[in-house]
Amino acid sequence: MTTDNIKPIPQFSAFIQAKCPRCRRGKMFANSTYSLSGQNMYKSCPHCNLSFEREPGYFYVAMFVSYAMNVAEMVTLAVAIAVLTGSDNPWVYVSVLLGSILVLSPFNFRYSRVMLLYWLTPGLHYHPEMSGDMPHKH
Ligand SMILES: [Zn+2]
Repeated sequence: MTTDNIKPIPQFSAFIQAKCPRCRRGKMFANSTYSLSGQNMYKSCPHCNLSFEREPGYFYVAMFVSYAMNVAEMVTLAVAIAVLTGSDNPWVYVSVLLGSILVLSPFNFRYSRVMLLYWLTPGLHYHPEMSGDMPHKH
């Protein structure tokens, strides 16, 4: 059996594209981050059949991840506003931060789940042999 045709897929590119953490080939979401039809996550990987929701309610944990992302983003933005505008008008901060929360929420939703599966799930690792074409067992 040859494995020459399998090129390992770098974590960074798989992560950015929200690909399956095990095979890095299958997509985790059925549509793009800002698609109007909303967030549509596959139940399992279309390529290697990994079940993304490791156990019932698993994605509740992703809410904490997305909360942490929100806090980090808000702090960064507040500092950026202060540095760039030097404004001390609280309404500038409130309107920019609230607007950003809305704009960033699909992004946070998606990447909190990607981070959860990539970094916070013990026992779930990349299997390069699975990124090749899967043998079809029918
Ligand atoms: Zn997969």
